[in-house]
Order: sequence, then structure tokens, then C-alpha cells
Amino acid sequence: MVSNKSNPTVEWRRRLSAALREMNLNPAQQARLEEIVEQELTVLEQLHGELTLCRQHTRLLEQVLEGTSEGIAVTDSQGCIQMVNASFCGLTGLSGDQARGKHIHRINCHEEAGDKFALVFAALEDQSAWGGEMVHRRSDGHQFHQWLSVARMGGGQDERLVWALRDISEIKTSEERITYLAYHDALTGLPNRRLFSDRLEVAIATATRKKQRLALLFLDLDNFKHVNDGLGHAAGDELLQETSRRLRGKVRDEDTVARLGGDEFILLLVGVQEAEYAAVVAQRVLDDLARPFRLRGKEFYLSASVGITLFPDDGSEAEGLMANADMAMYRAKAAGRNNYKLFTPALNEKVQRRMALEGALRQAIGNQEFLVHYQPKVELAQGRVVGMEALVRWERPGHGLVSPGEFIPLAEDTGQIVAIGRWVLEQACRQAKAWHDKGHRDLAVSVNLSPRQFQQKDLVPLVTDTLGASGLDPRSLELEVTESMLMSSVDDAIVTLNELSALGVRLSMDDFGKGYSNLYYLKHFPMDTLKIDRSFVRDVAVEPDDASIVDTIINMSRSLKLNVIAEGVEDTDQLRFLRERSCDQMQGFLFSRPLPPDQITQMLTSGLRLH
Ligand code: C2E
Ligand code: MG
Ligand code: MG
Repeated sequence: MVSNKSNPTVEWRRRLSAALREMNLNPAQQARLEEIVEQELTVLEQLHGELTLCRQHTRLLEQVLEGTSEGIAVTDSQGCIQMVNASFCGLTGLSGDQARGKHIHRINCHEEAGDKFALVFAALEDQSAWGGEMVHRRSDGHQFHQWLSVARMGGGQDERLVWALRDISEIKTSEERITYLAYHDALTGLPNRRLFSDRLEVAIATATRKKQRLALLFLDLDNFKHVNDGLGHAAGDELLQETSRRLRGKVRDEDTVARLGGDEFILLLVGVQEAEYAAVVAQRVLDDLARPFRLRGKEFYLSASVGITLFPDDGSEAEGLMANADMAMYRAKAAGRNNYKLFTPALNEKVQRRMALEGALRQAIGNQEFLVHYQPKVELAQGRVVGMEALVRWERPGHGLVSPGEFIPLAEDTGQIVAIGRWVLEQACRQAKAWHDKGHRDLAVSVNLSPRQFQQKDLVPLVTDTLGASGLDPRSLELEVTESMLMSSVDDAIVTLNELSALGVRLSMDDFGKGYSNLYYLKHFPMDTLKIDRSFVRDVAVEPDDASIVDTIINMSRSLKLNVIAEGVEDTDQLRFLRERSCDQMQGFLFSRPLPPDQITQMLTSGLRLH
């Protein structure tokens, strides 16, 4: 109700009554006029009341608008800002004056803002409101997630757009935190089982497409319970955190380490070439966990058991693979803990054998377990011994003499061949010099080079230094190479071969006929000798095809002015054939097997010849 005090009509009424009195009207006229004035005043009184209410409402609305935490802007239908509230200024960092007259999308400096607003305006063409998330960046670079809503109001010329923006950064952060916690282990920060399963599914799909192998390593700590029971849960937690750090440190970025719960972890290795790689990683992890853990100022030792399964070898489904890895882990536990087992027994055995061989090979050089045997090369015209091929042997403790066929490929893979090859070269040069000093001055020594050795940058200086240290005439050293190792990078190979040849060293193409037998390159390689591969020599006397191959190689050597030698000569029929075709030299069991150096010395002293 409108109070009399604030109601101006009371005053109007008083003044009108006074004016009527002064007009000296007759009573009827006065009564009539008073009645009319009263009616109008009543209307005015009502209008005044409504106006007052309106004012109160407007003031209230203004207070609401200014007090709300949402940033509000009113624009015309094109988005040109006409009015903003205080929160809008607070959120956008603009004053009212700065905002007014600007297009709404110009207040957001984020690079995607333009496109987003274009979508909003497109949506408003056929709907009256829109709401969605958007990143808002202020001109000072500060940015936050906002919820933006807009509603179309009015119509025609008077149409307005009312925009409301709300900062939802905190909600976003807690949402992200909730999502993170749903997929990660809170203690270690590692992916949990759920995320791991997702990643495994994706990895299986990718590996299937790329025809690649995956490895799953299921790891369970062996004595975690003792820590938990003995030192308390807080110490147990620390131990798990440190374990997770060590595990992460042993895999590549693209691999996944997850904690499945308790003291169980699982590793997913992608792009695995060989089962051995998974075993190598497992061993690395075990070695790293064997380092002491420091807890509460005390040292503590831990070990683990690891079960390995491979995709697609052991299964193609995520669940099955995880069960296999788990089962293999139990086998590792049963086998005495602190070790790993592969799911497939045959593969397990193969990998373990290879790993044991690799470990033993690593120690073999230091333990001086290598020997060099020598096999004579004989020239066929006179039957004289003209050279020796140095062939490495490994006297492996408990295994007897291991042939190079068994360990050279592994040493090549692991790179150990470089050290082994260097040692053989030193031995062979020194031994040849010793034979020269005993009077066998024409004797040459041949040393096999492996692909990896041949690619070493320091091969030429190594050969130079070794020759220098032994005092052997470079012309008495022959290096045997194979075509396959030259063909991987022909231009580099030509450079290296020329440098070796320039030292005076002889070069021989080993196992010729087995590989490319590329005559074009043969012409460009500075070779001195071709060694006909054993596989052709074997049946040379009974197989016409082999006979013509050997015949061709001998003729070709002659026209290229190369020395030619047949390897693997075991019987007299083969020898007769080679003699008939005027092959230069032979090497094989028929004359002698590879022998230790002292037996070769005796042979040389006795002057043994081929008849
Ligand atoms: P290779 O260079 O072709 O050596 C000849 C191989 O044939 C030797 O085997 C030798 O014992 C064998 N052999 C010789 N005469 C006969 C024969 O009449 N009948 C048969 N059945 N075999 C015969 P080994 O010593 O087992 O060596 C095998 C391969 O290992 C060598 O083939 C060579 O590629 C590699 N190798 C040996 N020593 C070394 C080395 O010091 N460094 C490198 N990189 N490779 C080596
Ligand atoms: Mg050889
Ligand atoms: Mg050979």
C-alpha cells in the first residue's frame, strides 16, 4: 500500500480543494467538480502506486544483477555489447566502458573462441537459447573454463541477447581429479587395473594391425608381507612407491607399468621383436629391485617373481593374456622366487638357455675362455701349406668346446663380437708372426670379420695397430668378409675395403656363391680371393649342377684375376675335381681339421704336404 506520507496526491487534493473554494462556485457545481477531481486523483493515485512498485522492482533487479556471481552481458542481436554487470567485468578483466560496444566474441582471446562463437550464433538462428563449455582467455593470458549460456529476448528491433558466463574451473579440476582417481592408483600414481585393461585392448588392436608382438610381465613382490607386518603400513606404502619408481625406470615411455593392487604390478611392453627382449627387461627389473631399499634409516632387501606372456604367441585376448601372465608368475614363485618364467615352457627353455649363454659369453673374454684354432689352406699345384684360417673356439666351463656357429650369431646380436673379433685378430697376427719367426715366412693367416665388426668406425686403425703391435707384414694377413655384410651399404663397404687394401692386407670373399654373387659389385670390391662355399663343394663330384657352379666360379676367378679356394674339401673325389679344374687352393678336413696352434706348429715343422 502506498503511504500517505510519500503520496503526493494528498497534497494535490489539499491544493485543489483550496482552489475550488476560491472559485466561489455554487454548491452543486462545486460538488460536481470535486467528484470529477476525486475520480482523476484516484486514477493518479493508482498509477503512482504502480510506478513506485516498478521502481522498487527495478532497483531489486539491479541489485540482483550486480550481486550475482555470473557475468552477465546484454548485446544486440549481432552480439554487440550494450550492458554488462560487475561480475562480467571481474571475470573478463574489462571495465564496463571497455566492454560496451565490443562484439561479444572479441572479449575471449582464446584461439578457438572465434569458431566457437560462430557455432553459438549458428545455433541461435533456430533456437532461442544455447549453453555450453568454453575456455575463456583474458587479454592478460589468464584463462579459465567457463559455462556460457545465452538466451534470445524480445523480438524484432528490440531483440536482445542475454549472455551469462560462469567460471567452472574448480568443478573441472575436481572432475578431472575424480576421473584420474578412477583410472590411477592413488598411492603410486600408476595406472590401475581399469586403465591397464583399456591400454592393453588398444595395444592388442595396434599390434594386430602392425603385426607386432606385445609382452605382459606380471610381477608380484616376494616378501612384501614382512615389511608391512614388521615395519608397518606407512613403510609398506613407501616401499610400493619406490618399487613403482624403479619399475617405471626400466621401461620405455611407450610401455605401461600399472599397479593391480597390493604388491602386484603389471608391465606392458609394446613393439617387442623377440621373446628374449621381455626376458631381458624382466631380468633388468629384478636386478633393480635387488638394490637395497632405504626405509626409516634402515636398508631393506626385496625380490619379486615375474610371469611373462606374449601376444600373439600365447593368446590374443586381453583377459586370457593376463591370466597366463599370472599363471607364469606362480611358476616363477614355485621355482624359488626372485626369477621370471615365460608362459610357454618351450619358449621359456629357449630364452633361459639363450640368456644363460649370453651371461656366460659376457664373462668369457675376461675369463680367457676363448681359443683360436687354425685350419691349413693348401695350394693344389704343389700340395704346400700356404695359409691358416683362424677359427675361434669357446671353452665354456662345464660345456666343453662350443663351436662358433652356436655363439657367434648371439655375440653379433649383443655386440660382444666386436671385442671377441679384436681378440682373435690379435691372437692370429701374433701367432702368424711367431710362425714366420720359426722360418715359415710365406704363411698367411686369415681372420673372419663379422658384419658388426666391419661396420665399426675404427676397423682400419684397429687392423693397422694390431699389425704394428705384432710386427706381422700386412701382406701376410687376409681378412675374410661375406657378400651379405658388404651389400647393406655398398658405398661405405667399398671405402673400407679400399682402405684395408691400401694397408697391404689381402681380402677374401668367404662363402662365395651362397649370397648375392653379384658380379657387378665383385668388380668394384678390391678382392684378392674367392672362397667357394662348402655347400657347392660337398656334392661337386656327384651333382652336375654343383659341378658346373664350381667350374663357373673357378673360371670367373681366373678371368677376374682372383685367387680361388674351395672350402670344406672332405674327400679325394672332390680334390680330383678341383685339381682337374685347376682350382688354386683347398681347405678342408681331407687335409686337416682346425687344430690348436701347437699342433699346427708340429705340422709345419714336419713339412706335411697334400698329395
Ligand atoms: P667359415 O669362415 O666359412 O669357416 C669355415 C668353417 O667350415 C669352419 O667352421 C670350419 O671348421 C668348417 N670346415 C672346414 N673344413 C671343413 C670340412 O671339410 N667339412 C666341414 N663339414 N666343415 C669344414 P667353424 O670353425 O665351426 O666356423 C663356422 C663359422 O663361424 C665360420 O665359417 C665363420 O663364419 C665363423 N667364425 C669362426 N671363427 C670366427 C671368428 O673369429 N670371427 C668371426 N666373425 N666369425 C668366425
Ligand atoms: Mg671364413
Ligand atoms: Mg666359409
